[in-house]
Amino acid sequence: LSDNLSTRRNSTGLDLNDPQETAALLAKLGALKNRQWAAGPIVSGAVTGRGRLAITNPADHTDIVGHVWDATSADLDRALDAAVSNYAAWDAQGAEARAAVLERAADALEAGRERFLSLLVREAGKTVDDALAECREAVDFCRYYAQQARCRFGAAHLLPGPTGEQNLYSLHGRGAFVCISPWNFPLAIFLGQVTAALAAGNAVLAKPAEQTPLIAAEAIELLHRAGVPYDVLHLLPGTGEMVGAALVADERIAGAALTGSTATAKLIAKTLAARRGAIIPLIAETGGQNAMFVDSTALPEQVVDDVVRSAFHSAGQRCSALRVLYLQDEVADGIIEMLTGAMDELSVGDPGLLSTDVGPVIDEPARKALLAHVEALQAEGRLLHVSRLGEACARGTFVAPHLFEIDSIRRLEQEHFGPLLHVVRFRLRDLEKHLAQLRATGFGLTLGVHTRIEAMSRRIFDASMAGNVYVNRNMIGAVVGVQPFGGHGLSGTGPKAGGPLYLPRFAAERVLSVNT
Ligand code: GLU
Repeated sequence: LSDNLSTRRNSTGLDLNDPQETAALLAKLGALKNRQWAAGPIVSGAVTGRGRLAITNPADHTDIVGHVWDATSADLDRALDAAVSNYAAWDAQGAEARAAVLERAADALEAGRERFLSLLVREAGKTVDDALAECREAVDFCRYYAQQARCRFGAAHLLPGPTGEQNLYSLHGRGAFVCISPWNFPLAIFLGQVTAALAAGNAVLAKPAEQTPLIAAEAIELLHRAGVPYDVLHLLPGTGEMVGAALVADERIAGAALTGSTATAKLIAKTLAARRGAIIPLIAETGGQNAMFVDSTALPEQVVDDVVRSAFHSAGQRCSALRVLYLQDEVADGIIEMLTGAMDELSVGDPGLLSTDVGPVIDEPARKALLAHVEALQAEGRLLHVSRLGEACARGTFVAPHLFEIDSIRRLEQEHFGPLLHVVRFRLRDLEKHLAQLRATGFGLTLGVHTRIEAMSRRIFDASMAGNVYVNRNMIGAVVGVQPFGGHGLSGTGPKAGGPLYLPRFAAERVLSVNT
């Protein structure tokens, strides 16, 4: 943790309250509104294959954003061979050269972010605000891992030892790394995984989410233009069942990173264990059953603001999002009333409008799964409130923010990945019981606390196993290098993305001991 990173700065954003900046941005996004994008396998720099599967805008299914075609097994084969044969030369270029390439990519992304913003809005259904934040995070990942590579992968470290012996500790790329990324951060997490693997000296086989291959193809081209050798970075679009499964079953790979569901992580771990070849690491960041505790000393206005942001913004489609809100009995009625008022103010609809707070969910299967949960809880009489859907919502896959009341977190058997929030009332004397039930879910990703009693936040922090705990603020939007992100238990293997221990997990450690 003691690396000298004080010169690092996070990417700056855009002031959406500045009418001039906003008008310029909207004009640029307007110019890209009807653009057609395409993504196919990119193997050693060449786009292969053909076929056309339309990718539609989740907010408006009449808007075709572009077309994708999947990687074939021949693409996988060639990409794997190229990755295995070429990673060593990339590794040998040294950390400084690799870092410089990633920093060039970060600069290019910052300078030409409109294309990415447009794709985040149209392909992933992100609000402009979320899209801007995601671009910043993507830039931050490139720069942070570049700097980490310099610190850790530069010169070998001389370790103290007995006289007459020289011990040199160094980190190296492992080989061909598979990166499987999610649709909910199709740029930031995609680039985060890929740039970490590259910074550590690996070649990469990137498998983007089926829903968001178009932005992935743009990101790969950006990295190639910045100087990542063609043979070192390949894009392999396709389904998890075909492309993902074939990649992790291949004995040529040297490591795998996944951000996705807990079930997928377990399946990959099983496949990795069963395949021939070396024992290799899996870096998995998965789901959460994230809670926030609010006691009677909390500031209600701040609580409501932070709850709305944590549970409903980004349509609840963050693995960090708030799912279960624990309200101390004495203040529960008042906070619920304010919260329902705030839900009435939410604008749900076209994510391309700056006034929109909540955009669509990613696709019809996601919407159906969420609505099944809504129906079940509604049938039990647990619905407290629901926001209104805007008129434009009929053209896309929207789910209105819902507020339910349940007796215990045990009512939820799984994570519900959308704008659905569950309130549990608690009496102070039952706090330990609720904390134990939270731990018993097995998840440990994010946790929020609103209190003005320091001992209270400490007690809740100590009793939980969440990887990221936020006190008196919202619980989303971890900042690279500032709030390294990731959890434990069913929430993932660690290490934390955007943290100091991330890159070494993509590396092979070696020690050279010489009797001098
Ligand atoms: N890092 C994101 C956040 O802090 C969440 C990432 C995810 O949803 O996978 O909100």
